[in-house]
Amino acid sequence: MSKQPILVFDFDGVIVDGLIEYWNSSRKACLKLVGNEKYEEQLPLRAPDAFRKVRPWVKNGWEMVLLAAELLRTDSPIKHPAQFSNEYQNNCHKALKFWGWNPEQLQIALDNVRKQAIHENKEKWLESHHPFSGVVKRIQQLNNEKIEWAVLTTKSTEFTSQLLSYYKLSPTLLYGYEKGSKPEILLQISKKYLIQGFIEDRRATLETVLNTPSISWIPCYLANWGYLKNNDAQDLPIGIQLLKPEVFVSPIADWP
Ligand SMILES: [Mg+2]
Repeated sequence: MSKQPILVFDFDGVIVDGLIEYWNSSRKACLKLVGNEKYEEQLPLRAPDAFRKVRPWVKNGWEMVLLAAELLRTDSPIKHPAQFSNEYQNNCHKALKFWGWNPEQLQIALDNVRKQAIHENKEKWLESHHPFSGVVKRIQQLNNEKIEWAVLTTKSTEFTSQLLSYYKLSPTLLYGYEKGSKPEILLQISKKYLIQGFIEDRRATLETVLNTPSISWIPCYLANWGYLKNNDAQDLPIGIQLLKPEVFVSPIADWP
């Protein structure tokens, strides 16, 4: 029997713009971890410019809690976002050391803040995310093209699922960060389904897919409406196509 075709979507930066919520939650999680009220005024309620500028380098949710903490530190390299991004991983590593934190505790703090926000006012929390224009409608049309779809995200499954139901979207499969790395999950999915495409806004993730022999055949699409770095859309390797909204709305059979 031939495999059922499926399209795999990243979530943040592809389906929703969750930047404002990420800042709110990361800010609160960071203040909880630091445990000192005097810091509260130092972190603005509006997402700071440096946070927005560094967002395209972020891979995991917990990194944003760390970025919020770095904004508290007067001598942090994040004061110069371009330089910080240039050595993003190294700077995150140093920041973890400085604060004496580990990724797990940052992720737990972030998830707890979200649980609290949902408990206090679910509607408000849901509305703090903004689906990208036309994306929800386009996904709803996939049914007509007889194609299944999946979500593969570094957010937790629980929160992603709440947002998807709010938008009346029900993917065949949903994998949050708890389920493993994106390449691992893609391999798992490919055993049962024929992956027609993987849509992501993080070029480095797509490059990892391309460089992983067992899944390197998967057609990769870089969503140009997401959190892209300045030169991300240029000189894409063979195997990664730039996906623009006008192509995204066209029938999948017509995609490059
Ligand atoms: Mg993304």
